[in-house]
Amino acid sequence: HAVASQTRAARATREWQQLDAAHHIHPFSDMGSLNKVGSRVITKAEGVYLWDSDGNKIIDGMAGLWCVNVGYGRKDLAEAAYQQILELPYYNTFFKTTHPPVIELSQLLAEVTPAGFEHFFYCNSGSEGNDTVLRVVHQYWASVGKPGKKYVISRKNGYHGSTIAGASLGGMGYMHEQMPSQVSHIVHINQPYWFGEGGDMTPEQFGLQRAQELEAKILELGAENVAAFIGEPFQGAGGVIFPPSTYWPEIQRICRKYDVLLCADEVIGGFGRTGEWFAHQHFGFEPDTMTLAKGLTSGYVPMGAVAINRRIADALIDGGDFNHGLTYSGHPVAAAVAVANIRVLREGGVIDQVKHATGPYFQDTLRQALDGHPLIGEIAGAGLVAGMQLTEDAKTRKRFANGGDIGLQCRDHCFRNNLIMRATGDRMLLSPPLVISKAEIDELVGKAKLCLDLTAKDLGLL
Ligand code: PMP
Repeated sequence: HAVASQTRAARATREWQQLDAAHHIHPFSDMGSLNKVGSRVITKAEGVYLWDSDGNKIIDGMAGLWCVNVGYGRKDLAEAAYQQILELPYYNTFFKTTHPPVIELSQLLAEVTPAGFEHFFYCNSGSEGNDTVLRVVHQYWASVGKPGKKYVISRKNGYHGSTIAGASLGGMGYMHEQMPSQVSHIVHINQPYWFGEGGDMTPEQFGLQRAQELEAKILELGAENVAAFIGEPFQGAGGVIFPPSTYWPEIQRICRKYDVLLCADEVIGGFGRTGEWFAHQHFGFEPDTMTLAKGLTSGYVPMGAVAINRRIADALIDGGDFNHGLTYSGHPVAAAVAVANIRVLREGGVIDQVKHATGPYFQDTLRQALDGHPLIGEIAGAGLVAGMQLTEDAKTRKRFANGGDIGLQCRDHCFRNNLIMRATGDRMLLSPPLVISKAEIDELVGKAKLCLDLTAKDLGLL
């Protein structure tokens, strides 16, 4: 181990970058252009901070990829993994076997999820979770004698992962373009993105109208053919888009009316992001399934899960063989880390703190700092997540023709100023670790404002 870390320390940034360029294909990247400039090499992390191979200390405004909810460097999570690896590093749960960590995790999840969620199926990621949702939904309708209910409705600009099913469920056109083979029986309706698509409607009118697209789609397909609707309570990768207050109650009403299952993708929203344990609680609706990942283990090891409400779980349990599973379903090390992680979130009071202290403080501080900023058209968010809309004219909600370029320009300023803030098209996103302190929020918001100011200066607006 000592030798390995000495060799690592001895490597200079340039050497890492050359080796990376020589052998590593990154996700969602244009490798040709990335290799010309070289990647940033992250070497360690603690709390809400990262360090790169040049020794720069960077504040992580995105908690990795929206996942490091308890922050970096938690010894209790490391200890849980270490002990579990020594005791039982792996065993499967396929053939009439189980093990203590997966049992403990399931019991704990039943406690922290809302009433009705008592059963959990495990996988390794959010994408696999949504693949599992499809399997669960189809098995459910088959086992209650309605196998014709096959269509799943999701949204344009929704994100549900990058497996073939995850990406088919997602509504990212640029992903679909590279996928000649897609999963069948998936159709998309429009997203509840008022700033960009609401026209002259009030947010409330627009929220209703976009929800009613679900009803129109169900009627078009025939309710007897529609299995489920799936959506993120707020769209994460799509730009932290918070739907108007009217949206989810109407979606729920429509799902109930036509006996269509309501599936919440809680991969980003789950485990405290909005100040509630799950984001659907923030929006006030009651899903039939929840897809979980990211904050389930705070990203320390990979794990995903699907929470299955009683009605569906009962049918699955009575429905004979369920022909789905992964070698690492309920992996003991991942399960042990998830248990330690959830205990930190609950017993450590982390989610309470987001709800009552740091969440409101972050939302207020961000709004005060950016009030009247020449680039900002709206700030969406709750708890410790926010999306900031870049706009040419806030009053008329006019968007920049080249908004994505301006987002990237702003992100370049973030890079140079040791801030991780994500750009999604013309929205800038923040989603820091849930353990961030008020002083660290001041630093995060201060740096975000600096980078937005620098971008506005580039455009001659400041
Ligand atoms: N669903 C949502 C809402 C997500 O944000 C993501 C990942 N960003 C996924 C699913 C896919 O998760 P994974 O990358 O772990 O497969």
